[in-house]
Amino acid sequence: MYKVLFIAIAVIYLSGCSAVEFPFYETPPDWKEDTVRSKTIKKYSEFLKGRKIFVDPGHGGEDRKNKSRDGKIIEAEVNLRVALYLKEYLEMAGAEVYMSRTSDITVPLQKRVELADSTQAELFISIHHNASSSSDDNYTNYTSTFYHALPGQYEYEPCNNGLAKYIQRDLSYVMGNPGGLGSFDGTYSDYVIYPGEGFYVLRKSKIPAILVECGFHTSRLEILRLNDDTFNKIQAWGIFRGIAKYFMTSIPQITFLPETLSCVNDTIEASFKLSDKYGIDLTKTVVYINKMKKKFDYDTLNNVLTIKERIEPCGEIPVRIICANKKGKHSFPYHKKFVVYCGEKKHVFFSD
Ligand SMILES: [Zn+2]
Repeated sequence: MYKVLFIAIAVIYLSGCSAVEFPFYETPPDWKEDTVRSKTIKKYSEFLKGRKIFVDPGHGGEDRKNKSRDGKIIEAEVNLRVALYLKEYLEMAGAEVYMSRTSDITVPLQKRVELADSTQAELFISIHHNASSSSDDNYTNYTSTFYHALPGQYEYEPCNNGLAKYIQRDLSYVMGNPGGLGSFDGTYSDYVIYPGEGFYVLRKSKIPAILVECGFHTSRLEILRLNDDTFNKIQAWGIFRGIAKYFMTSIPQITFLPETLSCVNDTIEASFKLSDKYGIDLTKTVVYINKMKKKFDYDTLNNVLTIKERIEPCGEIPVRIICANKKGKHSFPYHKKFVVYCGEKKHVFFSD
């Protein structure tokens, strides 16, 4: 009797299991219905309208060796599909989108960065898919977002890490993937992959830049959905939402005050206004002159930062300022320079 019951339960259980269909993914509620999707895009357009965003689908053209083990999924092609859908969503929200490629062509890494620079875009979003380095590993699968360098280093821009967090959260959520075991929030320094160097496009980018590795094309589960067009749209939707939410909180601005610039007794003095609607978190403000951390004066009433630096010899002196608002959002990279001309009297200019 018990034996019959056990078999009956087993049959019901197993038939229930076989009802799970692949490819498996969920459709986000704010994406599924056309009207809800349009409403969501409209909501985000307030923050994305007029923003210039550079989207970089990794690889392509002659660079197409990254593929799934059965050869059916070509990373370059998946990257491009996701990137083109991302472009579509961003443009629907009123953003200006530039791309390193819109078809299956070869674009060298250097050219990708040059293209981004020439467009004066505000963000650089590079889209990739990952692979396990072990040939018998069909298990590993996670979503990861990379930023350049490590906190505390001169090469590190905190705004990149901030942007990575926003995109990672929404992309991994819509894909239903974890962020991997090497990080608590799924964001990683690119030094994890190439110590001391990082990814070329992140190292060379002058604007906030991140690189997403959406999922692993070596995973036996991920390969079941990466060639599914609907799933690629959902991936793009996750990145789109991350970018939109990044812009929803204000970004602190740094403005040079030209009337404050002086050079007396070989000492340069200059002031900068830091502004943000949430207020400036002074503990996160950092000034570098000649790549060295420097002390500064701060007028908390007017949010004016003043630096004084003794100069010798003459020439170009790099100035870098980092600040953050009280919501933890960091300023965009701010790299300028003092140009000091020596004559009878020293003259100083402030320049990009
Ligand atoms: Zn790649």
